[in-house]
Amino acid sequence: MDHETIRKGLLDERVKLERELLVFEKELSSSVEETSGESPYGQHLAENAAAALDREMDLTLEGNLREVLRRIDRALLKLDDGSYGVCDKCGGPIGEDRLEAAPYAVLCMTCKRREERSR
Ligand SMILES: [Zn+2]
Repeated sequence: MDHETIRKGLLDERVKLERELLVFEKELSSSVEETSGESPYGQHLAENAAAALDREMDLTLEGNLREVLRRIDRALLKLDDGSYGVCDKCGGPIGEDRLEAAPYAVLCMTCKRREERSR
């Protein structure tokens, strides 16, 4: 794969993610408006709890979207400075297979696994 194709793919993906993020933010603000007029006490408690849980899941999803966006930006920077395909941590090759599956990968499999364990 040549870098221009990769860059284009990353930019496409970025546009798509930003659009999803906008939808999330719109849904999030409208659901806050819907519940803000109600009393937080009494019979609506269970419903409110469910709504709060929904919101939390949305926020997690939103967090994931932001995380991927951040990685895409990092990968685009790496394309610019010529370090694309090189692990951010150990400087080793990330690997063609891995980049094909996740073009925004900035860590090799070994470093990625290590990072996930340390969380
Ligand atoms: Zn590495």
